Amino acid sequence: MEVERTFVMVKPDGVQRGLIGEVVSRLERKGLKIVAMKMLRIPKEMAETHYAEHREKPFFNALVSYITSGPVVAMVVEGKSAISVVRNLVGKTNPVEAEPGTIRGDLAMDIGRNVVHASDSPESAKREISIFFSDDEIVDYAKVDEDWVYER
Ligand code: GDP
Ligand code: MG
Repeated sequence: MEVERTFVMVKPDGVQRGLIGEVVSRLERKGLKIVAMKMLRIPKEMAETHYAEHREKPFFNALVSYITSGPVVAMVVEGKSAISVVRNLVGKTNPVEAEPGTIRGDLAMDIGRNVVHASDSPESAKREISIFFSDDEIVDYAKVDEDWVYER
C-alpha cells in the first residue's frame, strides 16, 4: 500500500446542487486527507487540456461546455492507494449503473451530470494535479487521526 495523491473535482452540477460538503465529507469520513482545495471557473482551454483523452469522442463538446458552465471545487486528496480508493467511492461513470453507496450511485442520475471527477491512474493523477495546482498550493501536513486510520 503506497501513499498516493489523486485529483478530485466537484463538477458544476455538484456545486449548484449544494453537494460540495457532501462530497468532501465522504472523502474525509473515509480517512482520506485533503492536501489542496480551491474553487474556480475552468477556462475553456484548460477544460480541453484536462479532458484531452476524450477529444475525439462525440460528447467532447458537451463535456467541455458542462465543465465550464459554472464554478467547480478542485482538490488534491492523499492516502494509501488513494487513486483506486477514490474511484471506488465515486462509482461508475454512468450514475444509472453506479452502485448505491457511491457518490454517483447515491447522488446522480445522468452520465452528463455525474457530480464528481476523480483521476483513474497514477499517470492521470500526476497530469491532472499539475493542470490545477502548482507545487506550492499543495500542503504537506500530518493529520492527528493518522495512527487511528492506518495500522502502523
Ligand atoms: P470518468 O473518469 O468516470 O469521469 O469517465 P470518463 O473519463 O470516461 O469520461 C469523462 C466524463 O465525460 C464523464 O465523467 C462524463 O461526465 C462524461 N461522459 C463520459 N461518457 C459520456 C457519454 O457517453 N455522454 C455524455 N454526455 N458524457 C459522457
Ligand atoms: Mg476519466
